Amino acid sequence: MTDTRRNDQIKLMVLEGDGIGPEITAATLEVLQAVGERFDLDIGFTHLPIGLEGLRQHGTTVPPMIVDTAPDFDGIVLGPVDHFAYPPADQGGLNPSGELRKRLELFANIRPALSRPGFAPPCGCHVDLVVVRENTEGFYADRAMFQGSGEFMPTPDIAMSLRKITRTGCTRIAKAAFELALRRPRKKVTAVHKSNVLRMGDGLFLECTRAVAKDYPSVEYDEKLVDAVAALLIRDASMFDVIVTTNMFGDILSDQASELSGSLGLAASLNSGADTAVAQAQHGSAPDIAGKGIANPSSLIGSAAMLLGWIGERRNDPRLNEAAAFIDRALSAVIENPETRTPDLGGAIGTKAFTGHVANAIRTMSR
Ligand code: ATP
Repeated sequence: MTDTRRNDQIKLMVLEGDGIGPEITAATLEVLQAVGERFDLDIGFTHLPIGLEGLRQHGTTVPPMIVDTAPDFDGIVLGPVDHFAYPPADQGGLNPSGELRKRLELFANIRPALSRPGFAPPCGCHVDLVVVRENTEGFYADRAMFQGSGEFMPTPDIAMSLRKITRTGCTRIAKAAFELALRRPRKKVTAVHKSNVLRMGDGLFLECTRAVAKDYPSVEYDEKLVDAVAALLIRDASMFDVIVTTNMFGDILSDQASELSGSLGLAASLNSGADTAVAQAQHGSAPDIAGKGIANPSSLIGSAAMLLGWIGERRNDPRLNEAAAFIDRALSAVIENPETRTPDLGGAIGTKAFTGHVANAIRTMSR
């Protein structure tokens, strides 16, 4: 464990992850350091191993000290993980994303899709939406059961997958979506579902969301079928503000929206619970480009900015919210210039050079 914490300031646990994880995590810490200096924030980093490095050092991809010590930190920065490369669970190969979401009760996965100025997104329209995705239940085999798996095979030719939907889960994710909408200019929430087929599961989800909507009369509320939303995002993503939905629909729609806004490499996200939050890019470990030095770190840098904002709300410290917005502005400024884009955005510079430009913008931009 390398510990560079100072005093009692903002304490972040850093988990580099697999594939491009170490590259984009290093970039993110460089940017956090620059913003710390600019805003006089004392940010300390404690590195712990996760994923393949966790397996090498501790025989498990999620070493127990991560969850055990999480309450000692203000938040966690998690690089992407390559759980397809792990051994079976009984040999230490746990999916870190699922484990942390379950065990730290990170029920809300906040996934913005935002098109940046000067960079024409593939969809041709301005995208500024947030998918609020339930994170602790739904169609995820590792989240449905107290014991055993939510997927099983009664015969070699039949596979069954369970989907868990609870009143508690639906109500708290709906509240998170409406609270977020209150802070956005358009103040609109769209509940996305498939209640014509999943009558009970998505029926319960809608029942809870409608009940929460009544407490937020200043927020516009509507409901749409998930298949229609998949098409509408492509037709005109600008019609959406906050989308609230169940786990798997949210996973799929947020990738679609992020790619439409520019690239998965821009896609930030925050997994938050009542007590802690994890900054984690929306994408995976991108093994196809790992080690090449060309990954776009904007996703994790943007996620870390969301984490600072989340800590700022909890501490009621506007400096942190200002710092978060400043990181976002720096990202926009660098992406706006075609000369300082990474290959996924059609540019030619690598991760390190891109990061240097973002850090430099943070040092030099006017506040
Ligand atoms: P997983 O199943 O864990 O999501 P995956 O490889 O199927 O992994 P991603 O890792 O999300 O999916 O990658 C999808 C595509 O997007 C890949 O071609 C990858 O190189 C690209 N990609 C993902 N993240 C970035 C990034 N930060 N910068 C550039 N390209 C990226």
